[in-house]
Amino acid sequence: MQSITILGATGSIGVSTLDVLALHPDRYRVHALTGHTRIRELADQCRRFRPARAVVADSAAAGVLRALLGDRFKSGDESGAMQIDFGPDALCEVAREADTVMAAIVGAAGLPAAIAAARAGRRILLANKEALVMAGPLFVDVVRANGATLLPIDSEHNAVFQCLPSAPLRGDDRRGIARILLTASGGPFRTMSAERMASVTPDEACAHPNWTMGRKISVDSATMMNKGLEVIEAHWLFDVPAERIDVVIHPQSVVHSLVEYIDGSVLAQLGNPDMKTPIAHALAYPERIRAGVNALDLVAIGRLDFEKPDLKRFPCLRLAYAALAAGAGAPAVLNAANEIAVEAFLAGAIRFTTIAVVVERTLAVVPSHTPTSFEDILDTDARARAVARDAVRHAASGITTGVSAMA
Ligand code: NAD
Ligand code: MG
Repeated sequence: MQSITILGATGSIGVSTLDVLALHPDRYRVHALTGHTRIRELADQCRRFRPARAVVADSAAAGVLRALLGDRFKSGDESGAMQIDFGPDALCEVAREADTVMAAIVGAAGLPAAIAAARAGRRILLANKEALVMAGPLFVDVVRANGATLLPIDSEHNAVFQCLPSAPLRGDDRRGIARILLTASGGPFRTMSAERMASVTPDEACAHPNWTMGRKISVDSATMMNKGLEVIEAHWLFDVPAERIDVVIHPQSVVHSLVEYIDGSVLAQLGNPDMKTPIAHALAYPERIRAGVNALDLVAIGRLDFEKPDLKRFPCLRLAYAALAAGAGAPAVLNAANEIAVEAFLAGAIRFTTIAVVVERTLAVVPSHTPTSFEDILDTDARARAVARDAVRHAASGITTGVSAMA
């Protein structure tokens, strides 16, 4: 019986994870569930999976959860009453305690708990790509130094992992890898002109053609920053240089990614676009378990298309490659600026096309020395956020005065 903590249980990945766990009550026991908002949903999840612990954002949310569950609510194990805590330290605690940790908090907020799990030598199922983008080399070192296991949940990286010769996430030159090909759906604006993109709404940006996801990653998919973050993620996970990580647009999202070898072989992983597949794969690895996903019907799909990405219309992808090439703290700056810009776009403060402008300006302004500690990274993250907020204010004032935004 494996014990599991789900960080970000109330999100899209968290809910899919619980769906898979529900199919295998004989294999997995939920140790802890965490949620930042949607406390009512978290209470429902607690009733259903009876974890030993739950963690929420603050004491008010803890009070709400306690009230929803009632005093006599019992956890599923011998510990009796379920323990309810709040705040970042509690997230780190529950991340250290379980055999397996699903890291599915969105954004930089997920980094400390993911690191805590790595330091405790846990098996980490990583959905929170931002953590690896911010802290790549340090994160990977902590994983290795503490004998932790890092398994990718991002569908592309999970696909690559399945196509690699054997288990190691970092390997040697004998692997014979010529290239990693990350597929990208192209998002909801794949064929849209840059002019029209300047006036899209948050709801249009979040209406992804193939996947239902949280709003932040949905906007990232629409700008293709998501693919840029994934290039950086692939670089750190698989120890492959950026020049050998390519992106190909594949609108059907059936081929989840490919690995090309020096002998000309290309291996791909295919499946219906459903995150329960990579989640089940990583949960059971190296075994296989049912995910509750329909079998792929190739005949019904009929055809698979591939195109080259357009870096002019999707400058965020270019910026991510540039940040990876610049190295040092640049990926952390890119990530922080993007989080601020996406938040501003979702709040209606800036245009969709201004997201890339905010990121580019922040990358140009924030000095990026090589981080030597996680504190360094959080410091770079904070400075980048401050600069990005200024850039957002600048752009937003353009919108309110009728002058076209910075873009
Ligand atoms: P989501 O917005 O649906 O859920 C995010 C979760 O994080 C929620 O449980 C929320 O309560 C929690 N959270 C948010 N802010 C927090 C904070 N400050 N502190 C603690 N918890 C906080 O997002 P999602 O779509 O499930 O994505 C989660 C992560 O997985 C992201 O990093 C995303 O890039 C990655 N991912 C998602 C998908 C997908 O299909 N949804 C696919 C690949 C990768
Ligand atoms: Mg992905």
